[in-house]
Amino acid sequence: MNAFNHSTNLYLLHLNNQENIFIYYMKRREFIGNTFAIGGLTSVIPISQLYSNVQKKLSIQNKKTNYDVIVIGVGSMGSSACYHIAKQGLSVLGLEQFDIPHEMGSHTGQSRIIRKAYFEHPNYVPLLERAYQNWRSLEQEISNQIYFKTGLLYFGPSKHLLIKGTQKSAIKYGIKVNELNRKEQLDKFPQFKVPENYTNLIEVDAGFVTPERAILSYTEQALKYKAVIHTKEKTLEWSKKGGIIQVKTNKQIYKCKKLVLTTGAWTSKFSDVKNLDVTRQILAWAKPKKPDMFELNNFPCWTFADPSVNGIYYGFPSLPRSSFEEPSGIKFAHHTKGKLTDPDIVNKNVSKEEENTLVEAIKKFIPKGIETITSSKTCLYTYSPDEDFIIDFYNNNDDILIASGFSGHGFKFASVIGEILSELAINGKSIHPINFLKSNRFN
Ligand SMILES: Cc1cc2nc3c(=O)[nH]c(=O)nc-3n(C[C@H](O)[C@H](O)[C@H](O)COP(=O)(O)OP(=O)(O)OC[C@H]3O[C@@H](n4cnc5c(N)ncnc54)[C@H](O)[C@@H]3O)c2cc1C
Repeated sequence: MNAFNHSTNLYLLHLNNQENIFIYYMKRREFIGNTFAIGGLTSVIPISQLYSNVQKKLSIQNKKTNYDVIVIGVGSMGSSACYHIAKQGLSVLGLEQFDIPHEMGSHTGQSRIIRKAYFEHPNYVPLLERAYQNWRSLEQEISNQIYFKTGLLYFGPSKHLLIKGTQKSAIKYGIKVNELNRKEQLDKFPQFKVPENYTNLIEVDAGFVTPERAILSYTEQALKYKAVIHTKEKTLEWSKKGGIIQVKTNKQIYKCKKLVLTTGAWTSKFSDVKNLDVTRQILAWAKPKKPDMFELNNFPCWTFADPSVNGIYYGFPSLPRSSFEEPSGIKFAHHTKGKLTDPDIVNKNVSKEEENTLVEAIKKFIPKGIETITSSKTCLYTYSPDEDFIIDFYNNNDDILIASGFSGHGFKFASVIGEILSELAINGKSIHPINFLKSNRFN
């Protein structure tokens, strides 16, 4: 529906709820219709194409064994760390046990919500400001879109943390979050059936980022800055003796001056950090009853609290197959602590019963959203005890860093976490406010 004029960097927007009226050429991402922002596609390179570009570059790398920095785990945080460190001119080796990307860890599933009015805690907002800037810088560098501004509709009882916490962060940091009365909610978002006593909020600049495409893009750019990245190479152990760090994999022994552990759900298997819980989470995609109403640009990202159930539900618009490939349909999930699991033996099959439980919860509030389930997958959360991230030096070693415990809400930060890890590795400190994420809070 939207046409992008590259010479003017302007958008021609066509609004679904205003038939046949073309609204102005607006600057990309700057259009806000009262409370709802619509974002369009510029250049969206599909995962398969990015993947084959990266594969070609991975096959022609040198085979050194000594590096300034080794990053173990090239997933969400590790790919960004490789990029940011290599960009500063250091020699970097990234070691990934699987392919890049893959479906065994925490970055599966096409889309991740990004928002600034952080209900979890306002401490995260300065990091999010930087994360947004860094996603934008990456997009400019690769001429490819990673962040999609759809707006995020929140609804729930006014006293629920989802609503109260969002309002608190929005007020503290002046973030654009508007409250919608019932009529406005129904006019703008007729897809939702929200109980009358619920509060509706819309965060205008929120939307989603694309995890696999972001990880591939960071990997490709890291390679451009001369990082060396090995896939399908599992780190078996690492040690530090006399100031030299040695890393042993199933293929080789390497040495480095600094080590970065971004091993996600495998962190407890691989370090002294034993207070992490790994859980199995479920994602599902469905064909909506009225597909047009749920397409990107007609439907926002959303999240709601149903006080009869723990956690919150959230979801995404249906993305065009031409750019985003499979799975297709609207995507949704339940953000709550799933069953404890082991990342090496997790059950990847989603049962009919698990799908049905999720579908019933969503149908209550989005009655026309689901006709049939088109796909479902599992993915892993790595919970810290307080659900805040852990970003720190490892056991007080100033040459070993750890970033883990992202507790199911870390992806949106990947662009700033990589930068923080590069600052810590290079300067021994970060300019970003990360004291609240230090591991000594559990002592
Ligand atoms: C279903 C689901 C929905 C989510 N939704 C959102 C959302 O909407 N918004 C949001 O911000 N976040 C969301 N998240 C959370 C976010 O995706 C995670 O916090 C983030 O991906 C964690 O990144 P990571 O780098 O720690 O883990 P990963 O991306 O899994 O990376 C860890 C990497 O380390 C590698 N590794 C581990 N051990 C070794 C070894 N010994 N040798 C070599 N490599 C190794 C792994 O193979 C893996 O590739 C969601 C997560 C899930 C599961």
